[in-house]
Amino acid sequence: MKTITIVIPIYNEEEVLPQLVRRLDDMSKSLTNIECEFLFINDGSEDQTLDKIKEIREKEPRVNYVDLSRNFGKELAMLAGFDYADGDAVVVIDGDLQQPPELILEMVKWWEKGYDDIYAVRVDRKGESKLKKWTSELYYKLIQQMTTEKVYPLAGDFRLLDKKCVAALRELRESERYTKGMYGWIGFKKKQLTYVADERAAGLTKWNFPKLFKLAMDGITSYSTIPLKIWSYVGFAISFFSFLFLLIEIGKTIFLGTDVAGYPTLLAGVLFLGGIQLISLGVIGEYLGRVFIETKRRPPYFIREKSGNDSNKDDSKEDRS
Ligand code: UDP
Ligand code: MG
Repeated sequence: MKTITIVIPIYNEEEVLPQLVRRLDDMSKSLTNIECEFLFINDGSEDQTLDKIKEIREKEPRVNYVDLSRNFGKELAMLAGFDYADGDAVVVIDGDLQQPPELILEMVKWWEKGYDDIYAVRVDRKGESKLKKWTSELYYKLIQQMTTEKVYPLAGDFRLLDKKCVAALRELRESERYTKGMYGWIGFKKKQLTYVADERAAGLTKWNFPKLFKLAMDGITSYSTIPLKIWSYVGFAISFFSFLFLLIEIGKTIFLGTDVAGYPTLLAGVLFLGGIQLISLGVIGEYLGRVFIETKRRPPYFIREKSGNDSNKDDSKEDRS
């Protein structure tokens, strides 16, 4: 019998937990020929989330957990999920029930037909502001322009991955992660499904503007070096136009004589170039920062405890993280 591990990165979601487990359990009853297990990755929750998970585990042995040593963010919590999941396939789903667990049944159908990465795209986002929708659309357009691999816009992390894909994702150990780009990069046979996102079942979103901005920057800087290269083109264009400008000024002086003006143009030129230089330095800094963090070769996360059943296979995993 094949097994599916459902990985749920979870951070301060005590209110949603009972409802979530109920929905997942109902869903798993319809999977007759496949065994489901649930792997919660507790991402340093400050509320009772972990205790609640342990409580549920007492009655429901299919529930397992990995407790990270602090809040590492959803991207790294998912990596921990990939490391510790050992099903024939892994489904990643948010803990806030914005993604309908019932869709997993359809994912499984496609998996059985031989697809490796079945991902769900949300077609409508209830309860999200126009501004958030608009900025995320713009961002995905931008990022698609900058990379050669296909980034699948609006395809979140809600997906079923065959163990081949999970093994591939485990190999990508960078700690400044942008998993959405990795799914495209690793390749394998993909299938797209759609769903309508629900509002959170309870609690508040864990994302705030700084976190989203960091994720957006990680997305760009980990998948493209275009921001680094663009400045040589900008420099080239500016030099070219300044040279034309110079020729015009020389001609004007020869044929029309001089009047010692030019102070505003000089100032404008200096300020403009100063601005460009600062921006390009900032871009280099952004990449250098990433290089700095990655060269430390720190393990991407630490775990404090996990629900254990078999200990022999875990040693290798301890090394890996
Ligand atoms: N999450 C996490 N660590 C974090 C932030 C979020 O593990 O630092 C989890 C969270 O518990 C939820 C999922 O990631 O299961 C998605 O988070 P959220 O619903 O807040 O994001 P949104 O749906 O607003 O993008
Ligand atoms: Mg959510």
